[in-house]
Amino acid sequence: MVSYMEHKDLAQTVIDEAREREIADNVHRTLERLAKAVEESGREPGDVQLLAATKTQNVGEIMAAIRAGIRLIGENRPQEVVAKIDGVRAACADMGLTVGLAQPEDGTDGEPDIPLHLIGQLQSNKINKILPHTNVIESVDSVALAQKIARRAIARHMVAHVLLEVNESGESSKSGCEADEARDIAGEICACEGVQLVGLMTVGAHVDDEARIRQGFMHLRELRDELVGSGETGTQYCTELSMGMSGDAHIAIEEGSTQVRLGRAIFGERLFV
Ligand SMILES: *Cc1c(COP(=O)(O)O)cnc(C)c1O
Repeated sequence: MVSYMEHKDLAQTVIDEAREREIADNVHRTLERLAKAVEESGREPGDVQLLAATKTQNVGEIMAAIRAGIRLIGENRPQEVVAKIDGVRAACADMGLTVGLAQPEDGTDGEPDIPLHLIGQLQSNKINKILPHTNVIESVDSVALAQKIARRAIARHMVAHVLLEVNESGESSKSGCEADEARDIAGEICACEGVQLVGLMTVGAHVDDEARIRQGFMHLRELRDELVGSGETGTQYCTELSMGMSGDAHIAIEEGSTQVRLGRAIFGERLFV
């Protein structure tokens, strides 16, 4: 599944000029479109964050996006985080920017200039690999996984910020918990020491029918509103809605997304999935 990692050197820092320009143009166009979509849906500038989904992109390609204005990145696979994080941190340090979870040697524990999220599936044996680097784990899909993250976070004297991923489309190929179990799972995660549930995440239905895609996004927003409104301990932090990708971001923004995750719009079609 990750065989592309054997073919592409993800730590590569040098890219050619044409690729640099392609990514810069894409970022600028994407930021403009995003601003327009936010305005057209009657929301305020800054309501919707743009996360660049950097899977299969090397350090040089990620830096091109950052130079063009990207300020939030998301990786799918723990192995990719490990392969690239040192290179991205070093290149960003040259620009005076911090990336990912603060390191002890930084002497700060505030928000970095460029937060790093994990947006792909997480196996429990990889938790310790990514905890020192990621600001948010968006792909928590069970109480059991949240508890494992919590135990490891407590051992590191930290609280891990997580999103609950919900399979709103019901498609069997999709990760995430089942939609009708999400309320209970979210409630349990909120009560769990060592993690803080900061929102919900979903991947839109893979269909042409806009109404069906929209339905999933609406349901996620209703769930978020219900959680925050419940007043239960811990639910007050559950504010983020990570929804919308290159093909359906405009719908997600209309339905209240606070963070869209775009890969192809920024980097072009992927050579590897
Ligand atoms: C790849 C990926 C994205 C970005 O998808 P694009 O269609 O390339 O915009 C967003 N979220 C997740 C979880 C992904 O795996």
